Amino acid sequence: MLEKNLKILDQYLPNLKSNGVQNLINGKSIDAISGKKFDNTTPVDGSFIGQVSEGDAEDIDKAANAAMDAFDAWKKMPHQERKKIMHAIADKIEEHADEIAVLESYDTGQTIRFMKKAAMRGAANFRYFADKVIDAPNGLSTPDTNHVNYTMRQPIGPVGIITPWNTPFMLTTWKIAPALASGCTVVHKPAEFSPVTATRLAQLAHEAGLPKGVWNVVHGFGETAGKALTEHEHIKAVAFIGETTTGTYIMKQGAPTLKRVHLELGGQNPIIVFDDADLDRALDAAIFMKYSINGERCTSSSRLLLHKNVYKDFVKKLTARVANIKVGHPLDPKTEVGPMIHPSHQEKVLSYIDIGKKDGAVLACGGGKPAGLPEGGAYVNPTLFIDANKDMRISQEEVFGPFLTVIPFETEAEAIEIANSVKYGLAAYIWTKDISRGHRMAHAAEAGMVWINSENVRHLPTPFGGVKYSGIGRDGGEYSFDFYMETKNISVALGDHKITQLGVQ
Ligand code: NAD
Repeated sequence: MLEKNLKILDQYLPNLKSNGVQNLINGKSIDAISGKKFDNTTPVDGSFIGQVSEGDAEDIDKAANAAMDAFDAWKKMPHQERKKIMHAIADKIEEHADEIAVLESYDTGQTIRFMKKAAMRGAANFRYFADKVIDAPNGLSTPDTNHVNYTMRQPIGPVGIITPWNTPFMLTTWKIAPALASGCTVVHKPAEFSPVTATRLAQLAHEAGLPKGVWNVVHGFGETAGKALTEHEHIKAVAFIGETTTGTYIMKQGAPTLKRVHLELGGQNPIIVFDDADLDRALDAAIFMKYSINGERCTSSSRLLLHKNVYKDFVKKLTARVANIKVGHPLDPKTEVGPMIHPSHQEKVLSYIDIGKKDGAVLACGGGKPAGLPEGGAYVNPTLFIDANKDMRISQEEVFGPFLTVIPFETEAEAIEIANSVKYGLAAYIWTKDISRGHRMAHAAEAGMVWINSENVRHLPTPFGGVKYSGIGRDGGEYSFDFYMETKNISVALGDHKITQLGVQ
């Protein structure tokens, strides 16, 4: 099976190596205006994938102008037509799912077992929002005595979308599909570590019949291309996914042009397991939510809060399972954890092993680089720290790798205090058979999303987003339209109500 995926890779890699990844502006694949390029490598073994056009403020300006020019026609396009194009994009993604999954896997180190699903999720995101095109402008009717008021939603204008390197294909569709369904046009700035599928996705959208200028892609670095996008006058809103610190820059940079911002940022999410929980299922969920997607997942459960009564036995089983996780080539379907996105991130994750030890937590398994894998690869052994407390850095900071910290607790109050002791507030997972306690804990958890007796299962109409330093705003279903659209109130007099007269003494 690895061979089959390597064969698929061989079909596309030579072209990437010789032609690289270009920007896509106004329907055309082009180099950066400056002619500058940067090298893209794979975390599998550090080898060269291809050169990437390095856009900057000039390219962003060109893309923002294209998005502005295309906006009027796109927002006025009949709903059925826009819906049809969006379904055609979903068809294209499905048709190319193997190619997308393999390229994404090789570019990011994410394992093929999850990237196949992520590619199909990308198509599902387009289908879901295609079907919502017709509802997007809907508003409320709020009648008064002498007036009828109604609201309608209209697209805000061209928007900027800035994405990170973890599951970039899926996250890009998650942001761009609702923007297009709203009638907005888009300038996308993908992460510099994972450029490959971004341009491919935009190309597929054009092949599916998307008019030129509606979706533009400018590659480049955050401090140049990203910054210029957040500052551009034509761009009315910026949807950003990335680190919390970067989110603060996005707000600052967008302030002079009063940019609407939506921030999906970091997390340090708790999974709380009580002694009455279905412990076998809780164990599966705890492992899945930390070690899938290489642990590079904003909603991963990075802190396992374990009730003292079950601590010893649970930790024993957990340690055995984590030690057994298969690390390897991401294109091998048997691989459960692939390499980190980049050697710099590998170093960051590895640095937390010393930090955890210094803080006094016990390394139960993992730590270090696995043996027998390519020298230039960014691999990290699945790591488990136990006997930690809430104040340690491994409990407070986002490690963003296959790295789990276990903290014991005794009472419900103690569990919630530990859970809420971090600056983040994205997700929380609660395991108990006591239904009232489940709800109590969910109400008390400082998080945008809570799952009770479940791992993260996304349902597209539900709101997705965080509180505290995990972000501002919500995605999903109608919530996405609140961001990409303006609500307008229209008030109509029902008759000849009294108008106060001035100047008639
Ligand atoms: P990052 O913040 O370093 O980069 C994200 C994007 O921002 C990249 O495209 C980058 O080029 C751009 N950027 C950087 N500086 C910029 C600036 N000054 N102006 C404009 N753009 C700029 O994040 P990352 O390391 O790529 O991604 C990992 C982070 O993303 C983690 O913290 C993770 O939790 C978070 N994340 C959050 C969610 C969520 O839904 N909350 C989802 C996925 C990832």
